[in-house]
Amino acid sequence: MAETPIKTIPWNGYVGAVSFTFDDAYANQVENLKPILDDLPDVHVTFFLTSMGNGLTQNAAGFAALAKAGNEIGNHTRTHAHLTGVGSDSELEDEIVKYANTIESTLAELGADVKVTSLATPFCENNDKIKSVIASRHFINRDCGWHGRNEWDVEPDWMSLQAKIWTRSGATVTEMLSALDTAAFIGNFEGANPWDVQVKGGSWLVVLNHGVTDDAGDDYAIDPSDIKKIFEHAVENKLWTAPFGTVGAYHRAHFVVDAATSTLTDDGFTVKWEIPNEHMPKSVPLRVKIDTKSIGENAVVEQGGKKLSPESDGSYIIEFMAKELKVRKSSSNDETIALPKSAFANQGYSKYTVFDMNGNCLGETNGWTIPANYPKGTYIIRAEAAGLKATTRKLIK
Ligand SMILES: [Zn+2]
Repeated sequence: MAETPIKTIPWNGYVGAVSFTFDDAYANQVENLKPILDDLPDVHVTFFLTSMGNGLTQNAAGFAALAKAGNEIGNHTRTHAHLTGVGSDSELEDEIVKYANTIESTLAELGADVKVTSLATPFCENNDKIKSVIASRHFINRDCGWHGRNEWDVEPDWMSLQAKIWTRSGATVTEMLSALDTAAFIGNFEGANPWDVQVKGGSWLVVLNHGVTDDAGDDYAIDPSDIKKIFEHAVENKLWTAPFGTVGAYHRAHFVVDAATSTLTDDGFTVKWEIPNEHMPKSVPLRVKIDTKSIGENAVVEQGGKKLSPESDGSYIIEFMAKELKVRKSSSNDETIALPKSAFANQGYSKYTVFDMNGNCLGETNGWTIPANYPKGTYIIRAEAAGLKATTRKLIK
């Protein structure tokens, strides 16, 4: 029996990941970024909100709409405080903990169901005391500086993730595009100087942006056309372009799940793990490989009594927040349900493929049964053969 039967697939099956973060709750983020994001369904980003300059209050409707469209809303403190200079514990609590609640309730009034799980420190001022207050209400924090890349197998300081900073004077669009190539491991990195950071595979790049406007006088802002070009390059490079908290939760969860050990049961084994911080997102889906060799071909994978169906490559998408999974032999209760043979019989078909209702290919079948280890539900079977028109049938198990 494998000690650690679960292995998470890096970066959700993508070559690498990138999280674009936008600080300070500017109106120009809503005005100029929303139309770009609406055109790019594979790109979701993070907005770190603050009440500095009335940013949250004035732009709440816009950020609620961005949240509803699948973007993350994070915390950038109530007053954009110099946290290392905050004197009292209660003030620190107000800036960090209570303000996360303020963001949630403000956006809830506008119909956006937001759970704040990430913070970004203003001015990147941080220390151990601040980290402990952040960790009491958030599972991850973004600081700034350095190249902003995180490697799959190196566990970062979750209360101090680094980010590559955009300013007009400090970076060029070409440099940002090249950073996306590095995250996607595109290029030859063998000749790097030994004192440079060595690039050995796809990584997770975190980018810090502020305003989005073509006002060249705003050094921190980026032109809308430039950020669009950068987003499109991330998609071209097949990077997982997802919010900071989404990629961060996946990354953090993998260190836990991949180290979790199995316990034998009567008909298989269970794997249990602990949640490392209770303020992780409500759901953290993980794409994993599970070693079921000891159980055999018809191994059933379950979470909370519900069978999971394998993806077409044999991997599973498990729920990290469920804190356990079970692998067991299929039993007589996992009956195989058959389609009437007449549906496909004597028609010359030679290949039958099973799909779930979301169109995911689950594997092949003999044409009239669904394997016992597949969960109950509705399936589509596609029958085909050379020279014949492919046909499909619905099968309910
Ligand atoms: Zn800021």
